[in-house]
Amino acid sequence: MILKNIKELKKVLKEPKNIVVIGHKNPDGDAVGSTIALNLFLKKQGHKSSVILPNKFPDFLEWVPKTEEVLLFDKQESECLELFKKADLIFLLDLNTLSRVGNEMMSVLQDFTKDIALIDHHQQPDEFEYMYSDTSICSTCQMIYHFIEMLEQLDLIDKQIATCLYTGIMTDTGSFRYRATSSTTHRIIAELIDKGAENFRIHSNTFDSQSLNRLKLLGCALNNLTVLEEHSTAYITISQEEKDRFGFQRGYTDGVVNYALAIKNINLAAIFIEDKEQEMIKISFRSKGKFSVNKFARNYFEGGGHDNAAGGKSLVNMEETVSKFLELIPKYSEEINASYE
Ligand code: 5GP
Ligand code: MN
Repeated sequence: MILKNIKELKKVLKEPKNIVVIGHKNPDGDAVGSTIALNLFLKKQGHKSSVILPNKFPDFLEWVPKTEEVLLFDKQESECLELFKKADLIFLLDLNTLSRVGNEMMSVLQDFTKDIALIDHHQQPDEFEYMYSDTSICSTCQMIYHFIEMLEQLDLIDKQIATCLYTGIMTDTGSFRYRATSSTTHRIIAELIDKGAENFRIHSNTFDSQSLNRLKLLGCALNNLTVLEEHSTAYITISQEEKDRFGFQRGYTDGVVNYALAIKNINLAAIFIEDKEQEMIKISFRSKGKFSVNKFARNYFEGGGHDNAAGGKSLVNMEETVSKFLELIPKYSEEINASYE
């Protein structure tokens, strides 16, 4: 765990400030939940604060409180630049390095001369003035709870903040299933329910309001699933043509990789998703046990993340990307086979 200048930050936050809270590109439940929750908290503390995300979050998070107030850098650039100009402090949440906001927004942040505070649970964070980094915690939303606890202001958590934090913890833990889900996580979840988070409604809003197209794309993805039994590995491909056929929208493929990992004796799963517009193949990796997909993604696919969940990209076409993967896997076969015992 890294705690850098948090006491100083506590002092800084005693006076009203202009603040911008930022999450990563292609924001997920944890990024949306943590940025909105912290923003609501900072406003209650008396600051002028806004959330800026690099681009739109998936439709299934539309119901999260105050998403209508989130500014999207790719759509409202001039408004965002105005806020950056006025800001005394920026919070970076759920990202470990500036490049995770995308090139356009990164160049703005690189020119930001005031202080930046990072709260994040990904490995190998860049250096900032204020830092709270802990790779053992399941979600940035849980860290926001701990951060508010460090500021001794848990009483400011209301129903909206609790709902946002619950959402991010739920989505980043696969509904409280993944390894980093601790007894503390469950205690915090209980607190959030006591503060007004309606757990059944949050699950239902997020998971049980899918479009038919999304499920059909899932069906197509499962059809494309390949199992490499001798390497305890499974992978899925989704082409641009398949995305187009089912009216792809951002978020449609979130979590699909988990179906490959759900197969008995599969310890490594990957999904390769073609993105013609960005001319790349976006990749997600998941593992059971010791095999670090963070290292694998870092070493071979310009990415990173956590030991058991990471992502990356490839700038060659689908066929060449999958070939590269298929050449690498036998080299790690022993490690993958012994990953989860
Ligand atoms: P997902 O596969 O769900 O997109 O991402 C899984 C984890 O890997 C997330 O924690 C995410 O932050 C991280 N991740 C995904 N894509 C990238 C990437 O391109 N670069 C890095 N450094 N991390 C990524
Ligand atoms: Mn996260």
